[in-house]
Amino acid sequence: MSYVSKSPWIIHYDGSSCNGCDIEVLAALTPLYDAERFGVVNTGNPKHADIFVVTGGVNEQNAPVIKQIYDQMLEPKVVVACGACACGGGVYQTCYNVLGGTDSVIPVDAYVPGCAVRPESIIDAVVAGVGILEEKAKAMKMNPAHKDRSESDAASGAHVPVAQVDDVPGASGAGVE
Ligand code: SF4
Repeated sequence: MSYVSKSPWIIHYDGSSCNGCDIEVLAALTPLYDAERFGVVNTGNPKHADIFVVTGGVNEQNAPVIKQIYDQMLEPKVVVACGACACGGGVYQTCYNVLGGTDSVIPVDAYVPGCAVRPESIIDAVVAGVGILEEKAKAMKMNPAHKDRSESDAASGAHVPVAQVDDVPGASGAGVE
């Protein structure tokens, strides 16, 4: 993508992570990686956010919180699962109270693999998320009867992931260098 047509505001939630991926999300927002050059703003208010960045797995305790944040975001919205735990439960997937990745409770638009996920990959996913937002906005415009996706997904019992952002080539679980 050669330009970003919208300044994406993100909200970040840490599920049951080891905090490794959270540190990388924070690193992505620092001047070193400079996500602000794409207009990325980290907000604490779901109603202001376009993109929901989730790290860590989903468990019985945090599942309702993740769902509530998602439901409070206005359409169109994009969900980015950051790191192996958010993508599918990661190293915690067999723990007694872990339900799985983010998509075990809400629909996910982009999966960013890695343990820990790298800041460059997070920025790539957020920038890709802007394109997904635009597609969703167009779909809503063409179909004013468009329903909240969480409702339609719940009705169908399934959802289809839209994108996967590959980890940085050559990176093998490394963090900030
Ligand atoms: S993917 Fe790895 S670094 Fe990220 S939260 Fe899970 S265990 Fe920690």
